[in-house]
Amino acid sequence: MAPMELVQRIPADQTFIGIIDPKICLKKCIDKPCTYFCPTQVYRWQDNRIEIDQERCIECGASIMGCPYHNINWEYPPGGTGVMFQHT
Ligand code: SF4
Repeated sequence: MAPMELVQRIPADQTFIGIIDPKICLKKCIDKPCTYFCPTQVYRWQDNRIEIDQERCIECGASIMGCPYHNINWEYPPGGTGVMFQHT
């Protein structure tokens, strides 16, 4: 089962994922690993920058560990928003 099928989401009206320095993505980070280490494809390389779809985030923490340049500012969504995991 795909990860996105296991969660219900309460949308956050604030940004909780951001790129600290877009120039690092553009000029230093050759492989763009965020575009494949994230299990729900929050990060996408488009128009020479990382696009973030934070509504896809399942709060697994991969963003904190996976970026080789520690260039992702990731926080939990504000209280009362984010994912609720379903146990089936
Ligand atoms: S892995 Fe980090 S530095 Fe590389 S493109 Fe993604 S956010 Fe930018």
